Amino acid sequence: MNTSSSDEQWRRLALCAQTDPEVFFPELGGSAVSAKKVCARCEVRAKCLADALNNGESYGIWGGMSDNERTRLKRKWTRKHGRGTTNPPDRADTAVTAPANQTAS
Ligand code: SF4
Repeated sequence: MNTSSSDEQWRRLALCAQTDPEVFFPELGGSAVSAKKVCARCEVRAKCLADALNNGESYGIWGGMSDNERTRLKRKWTRKHGRGTTNPPDRADTAVTAPANQTAS
């Protein structure tokens, strides 16, 4: 995906940049609680989630959601709006509802 530098400006505000990156990529069955707690306080959470959805990130915690949670969000969006409508990434600001205390699923 081709993104302009202005599209990536949010990364400078990413709270995870000040945190151990390994927490955002827990082992299979590992806890994502620490990462989600950081994401819950991150001011660019919606942008991060939108970016992850747009890029099909398939591993790790992005925007406070695990891969399974992001997949469920995409499916829910497609069921509700059908294919070819506005993609969930464009509405991620309204979709950030995952509690920060969930574990990776
Ligand atoms: S929402 Fe989480 S993963 Fe995304 S930039 Fe913020 S801290 Fe990092």
